[in-house]
Amino acid sequence: MTESPYDKNPYSGIAISSLIRAFRCPRQYYFYKKNEFASNGKYIICREVSSSGQDETFDQIWKTVNLLDPTIPSKLQDFLHVCLDANKNAPRRPWTELDRTVRSKQLSIYGQLDKFDERTGECTLTRCTKAPKTGCWPDDRVRATALLLCVSETADIRPKGIYIEYIPSGIIRYYTPTPKDRRIVIHTLRQIHAIDKGNFPPRPLNPPCKGCRFEDTCTSYEPRKLSGLFKK
Ligand code: SF4
Repeated sequence: MTESPYDKNPYSGIAISSLIRAFRCPRQYYFYKKNEFASNGKYIICREVSSSGQDETFDQIWKTVNLLDPTIPSKLQDFLHVCLDANKNAPRRPWTELDRTVRSKQLSIYGQLDKFDERTGECTLTRCTKAPKTGCWPDDRVRATALLLCVSETADIRPKGIYIEYIPSGIIRYYTPTPKDRRIVIHTLRQIHAIDKGNFPPRPLNPPCKGCRFEDTCTSYEPRKLSGLFKK
């Protein structure tokens, strides 16, 4: 049997976090490829709240968060207070494994499942954003779909949906991906492959430009209009 790159390296392929960037805006994916940005620490806090016991105190959780990321800014203590208040009476989704790497050879993608319960096959995704009024955010639908496609290959089970914990709201939603979601994953992967081959992507129809850190760079990449070139 021929050995594929996957057999040697579980991280070969496209990270689901990169897929989400490209889904938001293919140009963001293009610019992120050229720059590294540190995480803002909120995710680490939410992960600890999600996996902590109901009786764990603020001090205990903050201590663990600091062990995980000694550079975490102390101003994020307020965010931890918000999360703990929101989750005071919220149930925690059960798990037997945390941070399980899952991958799909077929799609050449991999990602990290926050919680997996091998007794029931239940999968949980932990988010550090507030919950929308209903359902889940578009990014999370794509993330959930890609993760479940990976779980089906990695764990040999086919969960219908995934729990999404919106920690700052203390709300848990269950999402079942649709064929449309799977089409979006496949289409976005095609866009990524084109960018990785060196193509600069066109501006999408409704890009999330407000607050985008690449706004200036992005504008400088726009082809200049011919009429502008001949202005005196
Ligand atoms: S400024 Fe708009 S089009 Fe450009 S990368 Fe950001 S979101 Fe995408």
